[in-house]
Amino acid sequence: MLGLMQDWPLLLHRIIDHAAIQHGTREVVSRAVEDGSLRRTTYARVRQRSLQVAKRLGREGIALGDRVATLAWNSDRHLELWYGISGIGAITHTVNPRLFPEQIAGIIDHAGDRILFLDLTFVAMVEQIQDKLPSVERYIILTDAFHMPDTTLKGAVPYEDWLAEADDDFAWAEVDENTAAGLCYTSGTTGGPKGVLYSHRSNVLHALAVAAPDFMGLSSRDTVMPVVPLFHANSWSLAYSAPMTGAKLVMPGAKLDGPSLHALLEGESVTMTAAVPTVWLGLLQHLEATGGTLTSLKRVVIGGSACPRAMTEAFERKYGVTVSHAWGMTEMSPLGSFCSVKPVYEHLEGEALYDLKVKQGHPPFTVEFRITDDAGKDQPWDGQTFGRLKARGPAVAKAYFRREDEPILDEHGFFDTGDVATLDAAGYMQITDRSKDVIKSGGEWISSIDLENLAIGHPDVAEAAVIGVAHPKWDERPLLVIVPKPGKTPGKDEMLAFMTGKIAKWWLPDDVVLVEAIPHTATGKIQKTKLREMFRDYRLPG
Ligand code: AMP
Repeated sequence: MLGLMQDWPLLLHRIIDHAAIQHGTREVVSRAVEDGSLRRTTYARVRQRSLQVAKRLGREGIALGDRVATLAWNSDRHLELWYGISGIGAITHTVNPRLFPEQIAGIIDHAGDRILFLDLTFVAMVEQIQDKLPSVERYIILTDAFHMPDTTLKGAVPYEDWLAEADDDFAWAEVDENTAAGLCYTSGTTGGPKGVLYSHRSNVLHALAVAAPDFMGLSSRDTVMPVVPLFHANSWSLAYSAPMTGAKLVMPGAKLDGPSLHALLEGESVTMTAAVPTVWLGLLQHLEATGGTLTSLKRVVIGGSACPRAMTEAFERKYGVTVSHAWGMTEMSPLGSFCSVKPVYEHLEGEALYDLKVKQGHPPFTVEFRITDDAGKDQPWDGQTFGRLKARGPAVAKAYFRREDEPILDEHGFFDTGDVATLDAAGYMQITDRSKDVIKSGGEWISSIDLENLAIGHPDVAEAAVIGVAHPKWDERPLLVIVPKPGKTPGKDEMLAFMTGKIAKWWLPDDVVLVEAIPHTATGKIQKTKLREMFRDYRLPG
């Protein structure tokens, strides 16, 4: 017997409709790419313009299942494009502009995008690769006529002129909720392009799950600044969860440096924000240098790579801002876990609480975890035993776009995340490493992340990375690579003395090297492959 409740498909346009009806006057504030000034609009207006986008796209011949690409910073225009593109049944392909031009050309070609919307920042780069983009029929520049540059891009017009050619008298496409709505390629540097194809249903369920109090904890009284880009896996859902709850949105545009972010946090009274650790490094350095404070910010979500303990302590102790460590990946829509405090750990305080907060946390309803050995055997949830982290749920990928024949799930329907992790009895997950970054020393595993977290706690260290280097007896031993703070030169003995007693003795790095910069990937993570290449000819002392 079937239930007798209404069939109300989980479609993304319902989010912006709800925002416009219930929270129509709530603001969306964006830092303009053109001149850094602030542009203000509302959810009601964003919805109107999204309808215009959908209608205007229809006139371009865009229809169900077509891919439409964006190469853009976080802004109101990018937001209305999202809702407009999926609102006509097409697919928003958010392209990561931090990839190499060749990679960008490769994924746009692989996706078969028909129109490309781009910010002024990227015009020159796209001109260089446009002859490698045969599927793109025309380019729309996200600006107005006044700021429109001379460009060789095919059919290029200013977005505002293009949009003005349609009104908002449009009915959203009522498609099946499993229809594809978004496409995002993983930032992996090896193998062919891997596109994750989100559906309306998966994005709506993910947005609902992560808005809840133990996770993003959003409400209509919040002012949310997603620093994490819309092109980095749905800005961790904030472009959906914020309008869904009626939170005011602050979009930082192209300026992600410490002073610019600080100005927005204070000027717009932001209560909650989210980004990768590198971004917060810039903010904390700025605050330290200027004696700045954070007067309205209550919560910061940090993820994308491991959040160093020192960063959590700095936010919480010095600035009174609660840190939620989050873990996820493009294939998970992207959030898989948050580190909020469950009642079992409520008694923790001081150092013990920070020991908990370095963990990546527990999954929301809609995500299930298991850890297994290489043979697929489940490992105990004892907080000690490492295993391959596997996940399943309605917002986890089951195959990659245009690689549908390649199986990526195990026999129980779990996706192997490629991360190595522990799970404790209370369900808290802690990432030990990427399976390819873990250091294998004498048959035992050493977590590069644990060593990095520890090293970054030294007051002279700005950034730290640990890689395994070949060793004749132990196979691999850890090498600690450090970017010192300006004017500091922490020595090897000093670093090892600092780390001694805080980890097993055999985990101590065999050497410490100072460098000017550590390479990062397009999503701001330490690029271990490049770092290993840099140290290919390096030999450990002795
Ligand atoms: P991406 O798909 O580019 O977001 O990359 C996902 C990968 O980033 C994960 O599989 C992890 O290896 C890493 N990652 C994300 N969040 C964290 C975190 N909080 N701690 C450690 N690694 C993380």
